[in-house]
Amino acid sequence: MTYKYTDYLKTEAQPYMWCPGCGDGIVVRALAEALAELQLPPHQVVIATGIGCWGKADDYFATHAFHGTHGRALAFATGIKIGNPELHVIVLMGDGDAVTIGGNHFIHSARRNIDLTAVVVNNYNYGMTGGQYSATSPLTARTTTSPRGVPEPGFDVCALAETSGANFVARTTAYHVLQIKKYIMQAIQKKGFSLVEVMSPCPTHFGRRNFAGGPLAMMKYLKERAVPKSRFDKMTDQEKIDHIATGIFVDKERPDFLKVYRELNPINQLADQGGGNK
Ligand code: SF4
Repeated sequence: MTYKYTDYLKTEAQPYMWCPGCGDGIVVRALAEALAELQLPPHQVVIATGIGCWGKADDYFATHAFHGTHGRALAFATGIKIGNPELHVIVLMGDGDAVTIGGNHFIHSARRNIDLTAVVVNNYNYGMTGGQYSATSPLTARTTTSPRGVPEPGFDVCALAETSGANFVARTTAYHVLQIKKYIMQAIQKKGFSLVEVMSPCPTHFGRRNFAGGPLAMMKYLKERAVPKSRFDKMTDQEKIDHIATGIFVDKERPDFLKVYRELNPINQLADQGGGNK
């Protein structure tokens, strides 16, 4: 049987609940196409989510799904992966879920190098709850909880994953649809913790307070301001504020958690094969 991208989607659940101009639907389609290109049987795929606009994405997938509490998607996903290592576990998180409320789980998942694929859609704010600032909102950006500007610098999600030990780290934007698919495919194929960060527009909240021109202006910004990291690194600090570094930042082969664990505990290898001390 050959799988089409629609075989991974609950098309009957569409249209999406997201606002017009939101980037979330673009990433759903790119992920479904990546799964089809890899020909992964839908019953071997688990989409794990937490809470937030992007956290609703599991509603639209015809794979297995686990919808957990805010900031805990990686903790649940870790349990799923260790319970059944044959599954492809893909964790969909917004910036709130991944590195604000869920920051600790994010750091430790990358450090442990659990074999998961995290797809973080970063729109710089808590869209679902009304546009409050998150740990990725840029310094001085306006949000509902910072009408005069955010007084703290935002996290660089990719740098956080890299520093914590992830095996694969890449960033693109909702404008660069083919790149989203390509990076997700590479991330799924990589053993160990993989991150694909997608910079995405939230025209309803973040855009309304920081962009003139609405959804189109936000997409134009992503198109024009996303540059390869090699070019970004040569920019002045002032230029960097208005640009987004994209590309693959990490692609390495550190042994993943389960491999190391099994080598240290041979008895567990036997248990996995049904012959252990049960
Ligand atoms: Fe998308 Fe923002 Fe609307 Fe949420 S509030 S669906 S993130 S545009």
